[in-house]
Amino acid sequence: MRAFPILALALGLTSAGCMSTSTGGGATDYAAASGLPRATKIRVSTSGEPAKQLFGPVQAPSAQAPESFGSYAKGCLAGAAQLPETGATWQAMRLSRNRNWGHPVLIDFLERLSAKAARQPGWAGLYIGDLSQPRGGPMSSGHASHQIGLDADIWMLPPSRLNLTAAERENLSSISMRRANGAYVNAKWTKAHMEIIKAAASDPAVARIFVFPGAKVQMCKDAGGDRSWLRKVRPWWGHHYHFHVRLTCPSGDRTCVDQAPPPPGDGCKDSEGWVDRILNPPPPDPNAKPAPAKPPITLADLPQQCASVLGAR
Ligand SMILES: [Zn+2]
Repeated sequence: MRAFPILALALGLTSAGCMSTSTGGGATDYAAASGLPRATKIRVSTSGEPAKQLFGPVQAPSAQAPESFGSYAKGCLAGAAQLPETGATWQAMRLSRNRNWGHPVLIDFLERLSAKAARQPGWAGLYIGDLSQPRGGPMSSGHASHQIGLDADIWMLPPSRLNLTAAERENLSSISMRRANGAYVNAKWTKAHMEIIKAAASDPAVARIFVFPGAKVQMCKDAGGDRSWLRKVRPWWGHHYHFHVRLTCPSGDRTCVDQAPPPPGDGCKDSEGWVDRILNPPPPDPNAKPAPAKPPITLADLPQQCASVLGAR
């Protein structure tokens, strides 16, 4: 096994298991070299500790220039901005998760989109779910992506008011829009949902939007003549309580890795294929082997800048 330095912040933020010194063979104290105060001692160990255990407990962003490093499902975020818990046209939900952090371009986008959403009847704005952790990186639960501050989950529940208390934001649930396992939308789906997703897809900063297949097919039916925005709306598993917006890499973030653009066209035929497979699932392959469990992402798997993002003040 290749030895690789793993940083563990001794900020009192990591769990005891993360701070074990027994894995620190040849540990080097980087605090002096990095100019960090002794209290923020960083340990370098040779363990392959999952990176989610390093990024998950960190409470604050790095005091660095904003930059997304790596790809949506394997990267980190320097200099994150916080989506304010409440704005003129939005509220951040589930504040206890501390995932209302993103690249400043994502925060700007959410302000723009929520202002447009507030023009829809019955929508005071947007309820916004997870963005990223304060320094991005893998999460302990819930998402493979959302690692570089360019992904956001937006609730399907139309906000009737924007003065929810912190407790209400923990306890309120979004609503599901799907019927028949996602083959169709249900009666809660409205034209406003389409208009908001259309507004998001029409924003030049947006690369993709993920939503359940039945919603895409419904929008394909209702879109009329202007269909170019549908290309960015991609059918995906889940995504019936919220839709997921993914931005393109900000210009200048040179190690940020864009996803290949969606294939040309509106993607409606492909979405019908998803619906067909939901309604008529192919029989299970008797010879199929269960997919091997993926090993957790370690710091060594991430762009090298992520070690300094993690260790920075
Ligand atoms: Zn998401």
